[in-house]
Amino acid sequence: MREVILVLNAGSSSLKFALFELAAAGVAQQALLSGQLDGLGARAHFKCKGANGEIVAESEPALAADPARAHRGALAFLLDWLATHNENLHVCAAGHRIVHGGSRYSAPQRITPALAEELDGLVPLAPLHQPHNLAAVGALAALRPELPQIGCFDTAFHRSQPPLAQMFALPRALSEEGVRRYGFHGLSYEYIADVLPQHLGARADGRVIVLHLGNGASLCALRGRKSIASSMGFTALDGLMMGTRCGNLDPGVLLYLMQYRGLGVEGLSDLLYKRSGLAGVSGISQDMRTLEASAEPAAREAIELFCYRIVREIGSAAAALGGLDALVFTAGIGQNSARVRERVCTGSAWLGLAFDAEANTRHAACISTPDSAVTALVIPTDEEWMIARHTAKMLAQ
Ligand code: AMP
Repeated sequence: MREVILVLNAGSSSLKFALFELAAAGVAQQALLSGQLDGLGARAHFKCKGANGEIVAESEPALAADPARAHRGALAFLLDWLATHNENLHVCAAGHRIVHGGSRYSAPQRITPALAEELDGLVPLAPLHQPHNLAAVGALAALRPELPQIGCFDTAFHRSQPPLAQMFALPRALSEEGVRRYGFHGLSYEYIADVLPQHLGARADGRVIVLHLGNGASLCALRGRKSIASSMGFTALDGLMMGTRCGNLDPGVLLYLMQYRGLGVEGLSDLLYKRSGLAGVSGISQDMRTLEASAEPAAREAIELFCYRIVREIGSAAAALGGLDALVFTAGIGQNSARVRERVCTGSAWLGLAFDAEANTRHAACISTPDSAVTALVIPTDEEWMIARHTAKMLAQ
């Protein structure tokens, strides 16, 4: 029997999973299996890949159409599929990506009923993600009550930020109630902080900005490989422009929309989370690949705005750091879009970044010239592996 850790990332209509084998030295970095169930609550689709990315299974399982029971049905299907198609694997623990750990949790936690209830109290802080993350926890506890479940929080890594970086200029009582900057994508930043010495040696402990540019996008300022500031704040809406989210916005726009356009909570939420960003500005797509392939001026402008906003936020993060030693690109766009990296690096030349266009075009790991004061790197992130490692560590305690 091979002991494996099941990593789960549950969204509103999807359940992403990965299985990592426990090894003597921790957790094997390569997932044995990974994939997802999507279309939950409607027409479910299951896809699973092997260690080399080859598709090992694909089907359209008949799951409960009731969205409230979607995660339970998806997990029951997944556990059953694993048991029948991979008899030699034994799931010994599950690690969950949980978006919010509030201001209390700066590290992963074993999920007890009491903790699940406490995390449920944070739903108002992340209404689009937290309920689904917790639904998967509850469903798995019902299906496999004996299985240890570990919660890994997207906010945890940012708890090292100084108090000022976590404050809004709002009345103190609101801050005490929890209206403060939390920061997200923490598992991605933690992974990058972990591998940074392999790329930068002792300079990894210097002033570094990591750009997590995927469908969701944010940046994190690291010093001593700890988060000292981030572009996302109270929710995952703040900061950079994203696939469908607006990023930084004058709060006066919200007042205007409420007062003169009659938008309520639902309308605003839909606008800011789902109809803005690359999708809203281009009117074409939220997907960077589609926009890069388009000759439409609106697609070009959406990409330009995406890059312009990043360059501005880099300036802000560099100010928080008091300068810059390295800039790291990661996630779907950061790892793959040479065009976005070029715009961002040339826009950051004033910080001392000398861009190597040729290295960028061939997707090299280092895209700055050898004499550049700021080193620009492309490092693939691995949030699932980070969760698997945390889970293994918690099991060993
Ligand atoms: P993620 O959320 O990290 O999976 O990133 C998704 C984003 O990465 C989408 O906007 C994709 O269009 C973008 N992306 C993935 N591959 C490429 C590519 N080869 N070139 C440009 N963008 C890409």
